Amino acid sequence: MQENTFDVIIIGAGAAGLMCAQFAAGSGNKVLILDHSHKLAEKIRISGGGRCNFTNLNTAPECYISQNKHFATSALARYTPQHFTELLNQHNITYHEKTLGQLFCDDKSQVIIDLLDFLCRDSGVLRLMETNVENIERSSAGFTLTSSKGIFKSEKLVIATGGLAIPQIGATPFGYQIAEQFGLAIVPTAPALVPLCLQPQQLNEFKTLSGISFDSETSVDKISFRENSLFTHRGLSGPAILQISSYWHPGDKLKLNLLPNLDISQEIESNRNSNKRLSNFLANYFSSRMADSLVNLLKCDLPPSQLNKSQIANLGQLIHNFTVTPSGTEGYKKAEVTRGGVATTELNSKTMMANNVDGLYFIGEVVDVTGHLGGYNFQWAWASAYAAAKSF
Ligand SMILES: Cc1cc2nc3c(=O)[nH]c(=O)nc-3n(C[C@H](O)[C@H](O)[C@H](O)COP(=O)(O)OP(=O)(O)OC[C@H]3O[C@@H](n4cnc5c(N)ncnc54)[C@H](O)[C@@H]3O)c2cc1C
Repeated sequence: MQENTFDVIIIGAGAAGLMCAQFAAGSGNKVLILDHSHKLAEKIRISGGGRCNFTNLNTAPECYISQNKHFATSALARYTPQHFTELLNQHNITYHEKTLGQLFCDDKSQVIIDLLDFLCRDSGVLRLMETNVENIERSSAGFTLTSSKGIFKSEKLVIATGGLAIPQIGATPFGYQIAEQFGLAIVPTAPALVPLCLQPQQLNEFKTLSGISFDSETSVDKISFRENSLFTHRGLSGPAILQISSYWHPGDKLKLNLLPNLDISQEIESNRNSNKRLSNFLANYFSSRMADSLVNLLKCDLPPSQLNKSQIANLGQLIHNFTVTPSGTEGYKKAEVTRGGVATTELNSKTMMANNVDGLYFIGEVVDVTGHLGGYNFQWAWASAYAAAKSF
């Protein structure tokens, strides 16, 4: 085999690419991994607030958005969160469950990058950073890549260049362009797990709520998430908002139930003899700043004993059916992931290989499989990487 010829070339040395490289080389393939960035796996480094939420114990196909809801099932079943934690245990990397099955490193995210780097080196993967791929051609012999570091050939080519989120650290549309070059369909992309913006008029209306984080059930149509939400100076953020943003489309209304466990009208009825001002009464359920803001929005601070039916109904609407129409998202610069991507109808769910292009694979976020917040996106990166590598 010539020096510049490999069994497998992987473009993108991020979560999926590195995982795929070490598995592929571990089973005897000659593997080259290329990345245009000078730093390895930057997204792992910045993930999970610097402690990488590397998987979720509750991983299931329902935790992913895709035009084909079943596409991820096979890969997720073959490489599970337990497989990844076993790998960490073998290498003495400690972690903890923060909440809702989310596993985070005890140390900085760098430990995951170092582990993947070690596994790649140990299995003989050749890695070239700061390498731009300028052209890809395919012949019956395989793929020929022209790059800033020379010409490389391989039988199999894996695209692991991720999505469009955080272009500041190297995200590019490269993967989608390669898919298009080979005639694969793309599901339209959009920023996901992203804060939502409000119109200046609404921002002004809700300005007293800015900076307040509160428990909420946040919904778009029939999809809802129960976690914290937060009003910001631009609009809405917090885990519940990030989650719902992945389902939000321009023009959709967002509904927030600010008191999901109780019915405020019943609470008022049961406290009809209370002469506390409404803001004080609501402070039993919300922070006092939030209670003041709600009363401000309601334009009524009468005690429960004096509220009439329509005022109680308005309060119920405000608290249980708080409705806003976001004007947009904060975009890819603030998004954690990209919704959409290479259409799953174009790929084999067992191997991630393109149905009509022998030897061409797509793994990780570039595929139209988008996880919920909480470690699901890395789990997809690991699982899709494993599925591809095991088929080589
Ligand atoms: C701020 C932030 C926090 C996050 N936190 C979490 C979390 O805690 N848990 C979780 O599950 N998910 C998290 N995510 C999402 C997660 O990081 C991604 O889903 C995951 O990294 C996708 O893996 P990937 O390998 O497909 O792509 P990436 O990890 O993005 O890797 C793609 C690689 O391809 C390279 N590349 C791109 N274009 C080119 C090109 N033209 N030529 C050569 N190389 C190229 C990039 O430099 C990069 O190294 C977070 C994302 C962000 C932005």
